[in-house]
Amino acid sequence: MGDSVRLMPYKDNGPLPMPAPDAAQRWVAPFEVPAPERLAILLTANAYQDCCSHAASDLENEVGGGLVGQWLVDPTTGREHILIEAVIPARFTTFGRAHLTFTQDTLVDMQDELDRSFPDRRLVGWFHTHPKMSIFLSGYDLWLHHHFFPETWQVALVIEPHTHAAGFFKRQEDGVIDPHRYEGFYEVLEDGHSVVTWNNMTLSKEMPDVVEGGQDE
Ligand SMILES: [Zn+2]
Repeated sequence: MGDSVRLMPYKDNGPLPMPAPDAAQRWVAPFEVPAPERLAILLTANAYQDCCSHAASDLENEVGGGLVGQWLVDPTTGREHILIEAVIPARFTTFGRAHLTFTQDTLVDMQDELDRSFPDRRLVGWFHTHPKMSIFLSGYDLWLHHHFFPETWQVALVIEPHTHAAGFFKRQEDGVIDPHRYEGFYEVLEDGHSVVTWNNMTLSKEMPDVVEGGQDE
């Protein structure tokens, strides 16, 4: 796979102004200290369930796909967040023992599916599984992320489908990603219900002041 295919020609359009949902709870990864974040990651129940069911579809080989959603900014706080609402399972992938490979066909197919089914959404990142491995980004994962998901607001999610663990990776302000330091996320609650069962995550008791749009309701 050469450098000729870029997944998304995102041009000048910035984040949409929209407050983060009020009903969200913060899941915290081990060793993570909740603090105000440059970019908060919000995940809907629908996206969570679609990720998990695709992750469970092959417990031997790595599978993955695109994370579909919106890049948003809270107009009152100026804080950015991404809202992950759906996933696109990757097709035309190849995999060896250690890693999944997105081919050019994978990327073209993902873009077509985005245009067809989610015309007003973006690929806000990608996910893949690490069956019987830990949560990290390999050298190849980092290469793929930097080449095909180069925007500041694009994230990577790694899921371990046997132990039901997961973690998000995102760029720091200087653009660097620590491949061993993953983060939690905000679960958007529907009717107050939680659907998350990733057991390496714990619920934050105090909500960090990241998602606090719409406080004047
Ligand atoms: Zn990987």
